[in-house]
Amino acid sequence: MNFDASNMDIEYVQCAVCEKEIRGGKWFARIRHGDWMVALCCPLCTEVFEKSPQAYVRRIQTLEMLHDPKGPFKDGTPRLPHAINDNAGP
Ligand SMILES: [Zn+2]
Repeated sequence: MNFDASNMDIEYVQCAVCEKEIRGGKWFARIRHGDWMVALCCPLCTEVFEKSPQAYVRRIQTLEMLHDPKGPFKDGTPRLPHAINDNAGP
């Protein structure tokens, strides 16, 4: 999982729209949006991204946060509300 294309020499990045792997810097385009430099794999994805960049950047931020070891889901176990356990007994 890597959507950060700010490094020119990056080995592996994913298309911000279709999440396809892009290796060896073979992106179609790179676009800066706010703090993010994203890569797009083809003209179609670039067009889609440019129509609603906020939506894709927000999705990328969410995905990165979910996979961040320091994020809310560390240990890979999302915390369920206690109410679910209260009703689970026989
Ligand atoms: Zn794409």
